Amino acid sequence: MGQGRHMPEVIINQIGKRFDEVVALRDLTLEVPDGEFLVILGPTGCGKTTMLRCVAGLERPSEGTIRIGDRCVFSGREGIDLPPRDRDVGMVFQHYALYPHMTVYQNVAFGLKVRGLPRQEIARRTAQALQIVELAGLENRRPRTLSGGQQQRVALARTIAAHPSVLLFDEPLSSLDPDLRTSVREHLKRVHSAVGATSLYVTHDQSEAMLLADRVAVMKDGGLLQIGDAQVIYSFPQTMAVAEFTANPRTNLIKGEVYRAAQGLLLVPEADPYCFIPLSEECAPYAGRIVILHVRPEDIEILPRPVEGMGRLTLLALMPEGALHFVHLRFGDGIGQLLARSRFGELPPLTRGQSVALRFRRGNVYSAETERLLGSFGFNESLARREAAPSIESR
Ligand code: ATP
Repeated sequence: MGQGRHMPEVIINQIGKRFDEVVALRDLTLEVPDGEFLVILGPTGCGKTTMLRCVAGLERPSEGTIRIGDRCVFSGREGIDLPPRDRDVGMVFQHYALYPHMTVYQNVAFGLKVRGLPRQEIARRTAQALQIVELAGLENRRPRTLSGGQQQRVALARTIAAHPSVLLFDEPLSSLDPDLRTSVREHLKRVHSAVGATSLYVTHDQSEAMLLADRVAVMKDGGLLQIGDAQVIYSFPQTMAVAEFTANPRTNLIKGEVYRAAQGLLLVPEADPYCFIPLSEECAPYAGRIVILHVRPEDIEILPRPVEGMGRLTLLALMPEGALHFVHLRFGDGIGQLLARSRFGELPPLTRGQSVALRFRRGNVYSAETERLLGSFGFNESLARREAAPSIESR
């Protein structure tokens, strides 16, 4: 499977979908090159599932076109709407719905049997699919005797045994506990490299998106906010909404004035005009402007002593989480809060209520009016060059 087979690209062009007065998708355009693993990330209700269902043929868009390879599978204008069985797509859902009375083997083989494939071909494909998801040896077990992760892998094997050239995943890991998620995620990656099918994977979990994706597409309110390389999207969100949505658990957005003082460039937060935060000289073009500064928790360095004149940044709480420490800081009578994250051992000794100073290692500057990216600071050149590359599209 995979090798030698041409996996088609998927092109979604200006798709819209309305459910009565609810607009689930609006003018959505998305191109997935053949063999790519694209993760679609977005908050609940943003239209992710609807989009997948439109590609699968389970939902009829209100307008637009969908192409899979050189075939148009849907066109509102031309009245084309191929049924799901003619689209050569396989779908893996959150709820895997295995037949409880059938064995693992029978569950995987069932769809092939219904399609009338020869017995030997069914046996060959079923064995191959079970091997890819590492379930060989469990053929005679019933689903209830398997863990949730193993059951999800049976569902995965059932889908790939049909040899679809496009795979659609709708939050397939969300009903699994964290350990199982990690292991099934690894299997998904194996499946993708073994099968090579063009894949669209929907999730609202930012870390999952970053771990799995070749590219990430961020959706909101039925439309596309940004699409590109996962690392580039994380580093250079084109809008504040993307910055917020790619955060786990949250990120820092501080509105304030970039101020040129004797001691250097400072950010004076709107929430506290007496709290000055030093800024990189790369922010010089924004001096005198009100902007929104975005800094991820891991890009804040905590300095143990307050710097003269910088005051009023107070430690609210220190929360260890495994090898990481989350540091909650407060400024401006508690209106402003910052979250920093450091590896254990990298922090100076800190106590609650202590005044500290900080340094932003890197971050982004957004327009306070449009909430769009004006520029970034502190990134190494190779990443900044990738940002300038045409892989970033913002529509
Ligand atoms: P989630 O992560 O919660 O699954 P989602 O991003 O996948 O959310 P969709 O399920 O695609 O979002 O729903 C998009 C919008 O369309 C929502 O407002 C939803 O309520 C609405 N919607 C989806 N299906 C239908 C339907 N069959 N009838 C009416 N409204 C629907």
